[in-house]
Amino acid sequence: MPVSPQAFKQALSQWASGVTVVTTTFNGQPIGLTVSSFSSVSLNPPLISVCLDKKLYACTAVEQSGVFAVNVLDMHQMEYGLIFAGMMPGVEDRFAGIEVRTAVTGSPILPGVLCWLDCRVWQIYDGGDHLIVVGEVQATDSSGADTPLLYHNRLWRRSESLDVPTLAPEAHIIEVGPRDGWQAETTLIPTATKVELIDALSQAGLRRIQVASFVHPQKVPQMADAEAVCAHIRRNPHVIYSGLALNVKGVERVAAAGLQQVDISVSASEVHNRKNTGQSVEDGLLSLEEMVRVARAKGLSVRAGVQCAFGSVEDGVIDPRKVIGMVRRILAFGVDELSLADSAGMANPQAVRRLVQELRPMVKPVPLVLHLHDTRGMGLANVLSAMRSGVNYFDTAFGGLGGCPFIPGATGNIATEDTVNMLENMGVKTGVEVAKVSAVSQKMEALLGRKLDGKVYKLASRQ
Ligand code: ZN
Repeated sequence: MPVSPQAFKQALSQWASGVTVVTTTFNGQPIGLTVSSFSSVSLNPPLISVCLDKKLYACTAVEQSGVFAVNVLDMHQMEYGLIFAGMMPGVEDRFAGIEVRTAVTGSPILPGVLCWLDCRVWQIYDGGDHLIVVGEVQATDSSGADTPLLYHNRLWRRSESLDVPTLAPEAHIIEVGPRDGWQAETTLIPTATKVELIDALSQAGLRRIQVASFVHPQKVPQMADAEAVCAHIRRNPHVIYSGLALNVKGVERVAAAGLQQVDISVSASEVHNRKNTGQSVEDGLLSLEEMVRVARAKGLSVRAGVQCAFGSVEDGVIDPRKVIGMVRRILAFGVDELSLADSAGMANPQAVRRLVQELRPMVKPVPLVLHLHDTRGMGLANVLSAMRSGVNYFDTAFGGLGGCPFIPGATGNIATEDTVNMLENMGVKTGVEVAKVSAVSQKMEALLGRKLDGKVYKLASRQ
């Protein structure tokens, strides 16, 4: 008698592309092997299929015995997964020490599994080097419902539900507060103050600081003293200083100011790009190519990228295919670093993962940098999602300063201290000293006479 569709559905709900052990009994011996290619075939009759490698003894055993059971492992049953995958050295009898139960068909059932399905072979199809075995479910139990043991490749890199390090051991933090942060402030900050704060940031363990934007002084008055700032800061030989430019003239100014790197970009949003540079996206890409050429000739390291890569206020969500196409063209210009900016703070962890996973193989070996804004409170969640997707370069601003003069309602970048604090607590090294950056944010708070968006600096002791 097959099981009811209800019970069958309940058992299937326990299998979230998790790890299963297929068991059977052959010549009086229990047989078991780890199998991930398990799926349902029909609800009524309740049919499931498993794919078994013809080379394996267990395949012959299932074929001969005509019965098998599927055991779905829970998150604590990694050991079973490895034993039955034959990946546990020194294990000769896979069932040694395991107290199995015997199902109706005679197949052994492992203890503590999320659910099991006991089957009679209904049909076998030839799948080349595999057999596709379809079984009719005779009995099932899913009372052990919990979290499944997941893995997605043969190296057993498992899901985040398990304490396995899946993040890069270090992250590169690029401080952009002096550029992205200050350009969003309408109160003019005296040059001497800027110099003092940048000098303090230079001593905080940061290895990259973006000090100014070399744009037209009438467009962004706050940045009119870009050259003066660069002339007076005390350069730390361990720090790479960069400047932002929107055109060839800006690139030349960055080089003349003695900075090592120029940051240039095109917006994926037509409206935003026009507001930013007065150009269409297409013209922006052509200008970018020219800027790369000039920067190279001046000996500058070039970081180029796409702004509003995750959407803009005016255009809404931007089609990832458009961003991918732009990135492909920018890479062809020959850049040292590729940046993706969520200028309007519209990314979410899933969108970050999707876009980054598409782009990373294409961008490699050029580093991919994410520039995130915390406009909707998803900044650090996006950092984590990016880290999980293999990105470990981030733009951050001390105190969570920032915005964009051409994006209505745009708020701060992710805060340097908050990002560093999260990463370091998770064992990811940044080299940045939270206390020293926090001290700069506290000075800034006093200077502006308002609380900044960052969280961690508020906790640091005040001098
Ligand atoms: Zn920004």
